[in-house]
Amino acid sequence: MDLQDKVVLVTGGARGLGAAFTRGIVAAGGRVVIGDLLDDEGAAVAAELGAAARYVHLDVTSEESWTAAVTAGVEAFGRLDGLVNNAGISATGQLTADEPTDVFRRIIEINLIAVHTGLRAVVPAMRTAGGGSIVNISSVSAVRPSPGTAAYGAAKAGVDSLTTSLAMEWGPKVRVNCIDVGLVRTADTADHYGSDATVAAIERTIPARRMARFDEIGNVAAFLASDLATYVSGASVACHGGGEMPVFLHIFQNTGENS
Ligand code: NAD
Repeated sequence: MDLQDKVVLVTGGARGLGAAFTRGIVAAGGRVVIGDLLDDEGAAVAAELGAAARYVHLDVTSEESWTAAVTAGVEAFGRLDGLVNNAGISATGQLTADEPTDVFRRIIEINLIAVHTGLRAVVPAMRTAGGGSIVNISSVSAVRPSPGTAAYGAAKAGVDSLTTSLAMEWGPKVRVNCIDVGLVRTADTADHYGSDATVAAIERTIPARRMARFDEIGNVAAFLASDLATYVSGASVACHGGGEMPVFLHIFQNTGENS
């Protein structure tokens, strides 16, 4: 993977998948602007990566904040030709009818509307740079029912749809793709999925037999940002280890019927 000469802004780059994206981009020779609310963590990741990284405070819901971050990135590295829209929040686990409207709205705001706000801020810089690549971090929740996390699923479905429309509006100079990320092993895995035994049982249902590592999603983001992907635009790349098995097959396995 060669990202020499690429300057990529990664939102939510202070921790989790976003931090992995920033490390992957720098490892491939690119330079990275880390935008996050978490100033101490973001600055620490930038310090670890040295001259190839800058941290900027960024609230993805604020137009002013985006403008300041893009300006800081261009000032630091002379150009901006990549954006990884990674910042996101997960849902509450409440049934949708019980979820207060302001909570539902906030999830849509950060996961979907902020993507649009960011695109508007970044595309002029990409045009000045002669082109660019936008990678939207979506989820398998975009393409299947998400009971208990409906706002999150709806937001990510919106991100997938936006990706296809923007690829048409902004091609050929700016490519726009998304990654439908499956289950990833994170520091919060136990909070989301429960005990080691439960996590192991979930992992047995994935054809890859395990959750993803950060770098496995990061490799896909780096590929989409790179010139290896010059004919890839408007794509939703599934990165889910093979996907989720239909529920009726689990029932056949448990009952022994239809074998
Ligand atoms: P995380 O919570 O570890 O990190 C999210 C980052 O986004 C944090 O650094 C946070 O500070 C930042 N952020 C949140 N609100 C922000 C705002 N308003 N402005 C700027 N930054 C903000 O999450 P993660 O697990 O690394 O997930 C990253 C992305 O991957 C999200 O879009 C998520 O929906 C997606 N995803 C994750 C998984 C998974 O299993 N972890 C699966 C599918 C999709």
